[in-house]
Amino acid sequence: ETLDKGLEKSSTTFLSKMSKAVAGKSKVDDDVLDDLEEVLVSSDVGVTTTIKIIKRIEERVARDKYLGTAELNGILREEIAGLLSESETEQGVNTGIDWNTVSKPYVIMVVGVNGVGKTTTIGKLAHQFKKDGKKVLLGAADTFRAAAIDQLQIWADRTGVPIVKQQMGSDPASVAFDAVESAVKQDADVVIIDTAGRLHNKVNLMNELSKVKRVMQKVVPSAPHEVLLVLDGSTGQNAFEQAKQFTAATEVTSLAVTKLDGTAKGGVVIGISDQFKIPVKYIGVGEGIEDLQVFNKFEFVDSFFK
Ligand code: GDP
Repeated sequence: ETLDKGLEKSSTTFLSKMSKAVAGKSKVDDDVLDDLEEVLVSSDVGVTTTIKIIKRIEERVARDKYLGTAELNGILREEIAGLLSESETEQGVNTGIDWNTVSKPYVIMVVGVNGVGKTTTIGKLAHQFKKDGKKVLLGAADTFRAAAIDQLQIWADRTGVPIVKQQMGSDPASVAFDAVESAVKQDADVVIIDTAGRLHNKVNLMNELSKVKRVMQKVVPSAPHEVLLVLDGSTGQNAFEQAKQFTAATEVTSLAVTKLDGTAKGGVVIGISDQFKIPVKYIGVGEGIEDLQVFNKFEFVDSFFK
């Protein structure tokens, strides 16, 4: 239900464009396909993924000789679910992590540019993990901005979770080291490390992130177990661009797409998941502590076509 509400704007906009595209037509022909292409691109699915979807529908039309416009939504829905499945994350686990199979402490390094909702996502995750009975620790390794440390502290207080931090300007890798070490000492189940996301210099970003990784590996050699890239869904094509830059700078293993509420750009989830082949693991659908969901392709497609 939260998801329906969160995706309402994307879904309403998309479905109304779809009904315009097929208005007065009973058969899917080249005109309808052209319009469909425009609908998908303007819904932020991205050009590459749009072309892929159109091609598959063209193939179906060619194979079946006839495709009624009444069936188009259903077929599109199938195709989209198919694309999403290729990058699907663990299903049926309410926090997105199967605690029985991961090592302890499970280290999540969170990356993304400022303003995308990184801190909020960390706070929401801490809350969910804690609710799941897990011992959580936060590491404030975005030492570039004092506000980042303060914001994380606020979420630590709000969720009642300990935080490891240092002065602004201190070495992010040293904070990460302390946080992971502290997690080991306190027998924490999970440690979530915030990092700075300055994109102005790719080499710097790459160096910084790899140093943070390298240093935490001195404590836990298998860390980080997850590199979660947070993207702001409401920025549409910018989110694609950021995904490109971060995946070039470090190995990203999962995605969180935030701010899907209040935007019509929800199609971005489809394109990003298809193009980067990295599972979308969480989606942010509000500013509140509970407004983070483990991504489920069936629920997503259901809400998108509602
Ligand atoms: P950071 O700079 O990446 O750490 O971003 P913040 O976590 O501070 O978030 C920036 C703003 O986005 C804040 O006002 C958050 O409340 C808001 N925000 C984060 N996630 C969501 C979301 O899923 N939906 C909405 N509507 N707002 C969000």
